[in-house]
Amino acid sequence: MKILVINCGSSSLKYQVIDMNGELLLAKGLVERIGMDGSVITHEKHDEDKWVNEVPMKDHNDAIAQVLAAVADPVHGVIKDMSEIGAVGHRVVHAGEKYAHSVLIDHSVIEALEECTELAPLHNPPNLMGIAACQKLMPNTPMVGVFDTAFHQTMPPESYIYALPYEYYTDLGIRRYGFHGTSHKYVSQRAAALMNCNLDDLKIITCHLGNGASVSAIKRGKCIDTSMGFTPLEGLVMGTRCGDLDPAIVTYIREKLDLDQGVANEILNKKSGVLGISGVSSDFRDLEKAAEEGNERAQLAIKVFVHRVRFYIGAYIAEMNGVDAIVFTAGVGENDVQMRDLICNDLGNLGIKLDLVKNKVRGQETIISRDDSRVAVILIPTNEELMIARETKEIVEAL
Ligand code: AMP
Repeated sequence: MKILVINCGSSSLKYQVIDMNGELLLAKGLVERIGMDGSVITHEKHDEDKWVNEVPMKDHNDAIAQVLAAVADPVHGVIKDMSEIGAVGHRVVHAGEKYAHSVLIDHSVIEALEECTELAPLHNPPNLMGIAACQKLMPNTPMVGVFDTAFHQTMPPESYIYALPYEYYTDLGIRRYGFHGTSHKYVSQRAAALMNCNLDDLKIITCHLGNGASVSAIKRGKCIDTSMGFTPLEGLVMGTRCGDLDPAIVTYIREKLDLDQGVANEILNKKSGVLGISGVSSDFRDLEKAAEEGNERAQLAIKVFVHRVRFYIGAYIAEMNGVDAIVFTAGVGENDVQMRDLICNDLGNLGIKLDLVKNKVRGQETIISRDDSRVAVILIPTNEELMIARETKEIVEAL
C-alpha cells in the first residue's frame, strides 16, 4: 500500500509518499506561500534532484491539487494514477480529550476536531483545510487523522491537572495535553528495538529538542508525563518560546509595559526562549558560535536551556522510580554533539554515562552511552511521517 502523508500549515504544507511495502520513502515535498504571491511547490523524488514549480495556489484546494499533480507527474512523479494511493494520513495537532489513538476520518471526527479548534486556533484550522481539500479531490480514498496530543492521553490526572479551580478543567478544558506525541511515540518504539527489549519492560525519557522542544516520561510504552502543557508554550526553554514561567510574570509585564494580550502572546511565543535570553538567535548553531566567540548572553542561554532539560530528566526519573533509556531526537537532539554532552554531563550517580567518542555522531540511530552506563543514552532521528503512515496503514487494513 502507498500512503500519502499530509502535514498542513496555514500557508505551507509538507507531504510524503511512502510505500509501506518495505516502508520506502518514494517522494516528499513542500508547498509554500499558499494563498500569497509566489506560491511554490518543491518536490523531491527519491534519489533525484528537487523539482521546483512556481504556480499560483490561492488556497489549500489548489495546494493539494498541485501535490497530487506532482506525485502523479509522468517525469517527476512516483505513481501512475491516484488509485495507487491506498490512504491518506493527516497530521492533526489537537484532538483534545476526544482521541487517544489515530482514527479513520468521517463526519463525526471532523465535527470533534472542529470543537478542538478553540484549543489550537493556529494549527487545527489549516489541518482541517488539508483534510477537506483531500476529501474533495480523492473522495474514495480513506483518510486517517493522527494527532500530536493522542499519545499523551495516557497521562494520569496528577500529571495533567493544573492547580486551578477544577471547573476550569471541566468547563473550559484547561489541562495539560502535551504535543510532539507522534515523535515521542516513534522514538520510544525505535529505542526499545535498538535495545533489543520489549517496550513494556522499559522506562524511557524521550527528549525532542528542536525549535519547539519537549520531554516525555514513558513507562511500559505509555506516556505518564510530558513537559508541554495546555499549549506548546510550557516546559523547556525553546528557540523562541519561554517555557515554564511564574504565571505572575505575565500579568506583571502586561501592566508594567502596557502590553495587550496579542503582543504579550507574541513575546512569550516568538521573542523569548534562547533568542530572548541571548539576543543572538533561536538557532543553536548561531548560538554556539556566538558562545564560542565569548558572547556571554549566548553562553547563558545555552546554560539555561541545558538546566531545564536536566531538571525535567531528574523529575521524570523520580516519577518513574528510575530510567532505562534517555533518547535524544529532533534538530538539536539529533545533531548537536555539544548539547547532548552538556545535558548528560556529571549524571554518573544516576547511572547515566555518555561515551564522548560515540556521541560524536549526527542524525544516526545509535547508542551513545558507555558500555558500563546503567542507562542507555540513544540517538534516534525522529520520523513523524513514517509513524503517521504506519498508523494509517494499520487502521485502513483493519477496515
Ligand atoms: P527542528 O525544529 O527539529 O527542525 O530543529 C531545528 C533546530 O535544530 C534549529 O533551529 C537548530 O537550532 C537545530 N539544529 C539543526 N542542526 C543543528 C546542528 N548541526 N547543531 C546544532 N543545532 C542544530
